[in-house]
Amino acid sequence: HHDDTGRRRVLLKLSGEVFGGGRVGIDTEVIRGIAEQIAATVGQVETSIVIGGGNFFRGAELSQAGMDRSRADYMGMLGTVMNSLALQDFLEQAGIDTRVQSAITMPQVAETYIPRRAIRHMQKDRVVIFGAGAGLPYFSTDTVAAQRALEIHADEVLVAKNGVDGIYTSDPNKDPNAERLYNLTYDEAMKRNIRVMDQTAFSLCRDNNVAMRVFGMQGEGNVTKALLGEEMGTLVTK
Ligand code: UDP
Repeated sequence: HHDDTGRRRVLLKLSGEVFGGGRVGIDTEVIRGIAEQIAATVGQVETSIVIGGGNFFRGAELSQAGMDRSRADYMGMLGTVMNSLALQDFLEQAGIDTRVQSAITMPQVAETYIPRRAIRHMQKDRVVIFGAGAGLPYFSTDTVAAQRALEIHADEVLVAKNGVDGIYTSDPNKDPNAERLYNLTYDEAMKRNIRVMDQTAFSLCRDNNVAMRVFGMQGEGNVTKALLGEEMGTLVTK
């Protein structure tokens, strides 16, 4: 494509739960660590990021508790913006220019989502964080990660997981015979009902032929390695 600088371009999906360190709110030391690992790669790879919001609110849970689903989903999306601002802060402390682009307009807080501008930022060695999901209730940040990856022409979607280092034949935390899969097709992932990403994200990536690497963020420097393209975890392809 015409905007290609020849550098690898990736979309990194981080779960909100990681940002919370297992609690509601943010664990600043966790976020600082992730920011430093991302900062170490800037200049070598063009990075954009989608962060979940599970450490604040999940629309489906609030709706189960009686709230209107759409309003609850907007609360979930606003949570992702808070996570985005936190990561922006620690990236900038690590010396990296960072832009947050929000799918819900809030110009005091973040740029508006403008995909071509996001690409320009990355070409100028800025990290771009996409906040507020798709701006649409009933969507997930998984789906948004896939959609943004496609729109900005990312070469790969990187899915950082907590507590597991890839996709297994069954849940490795429950089944001692679970085996890690090194390669998997999207069709297999969907057939096996692998919940690492939602089905919409898998099918978007399958239909548009973008690879997804699922890796564990626990190991020393794992986020850096994944960003730089090291083979790790599980690669899901068409
Ligand atoms: N959300 C939404 N539309 C989007 C993205 C997110 O409505 O495009 C809401 C939804 O309520 C979701 C919440 O934001 O539960 C937090 O996102 P998600 O559950 O994907 O976060 P994660 O589980 O990855 O931390």
